[in-house]
Amino acid sequence: MPIYEYVCGKCKNKFELMRPFSRSQEGAECPKCYGASDRILSACYAKSSGENGIHDRLSGTGSSCSSCSSGNCSSCGH
Ligand SMILES: [Zn+2]
Repeated sequence: MPIYEYVCGKCKNKFELMRPFSRSQEGAECPKCYGASDRILSACYAKSSGENGIHDRLSGTGSSCSSCSSGNCSSCGH
């Protein structure tokens, strides 16, 4: 079962969650504050310049990296 990374929209807590691929597009619940959390697209994250890139991706251009769910980041433009 793949492990996905999430970041909480409230407290910015980052955590990992193991779940079936069929549920990979669903949001997760923060284990600290139970706030709604967004998945970090790990493949693209690894290619971004650093920590500061995370929020930009989540708020704006994240949808352009949807292909990363297959583990293939070739179309994300980086
Ligand atoms: Zn939280």
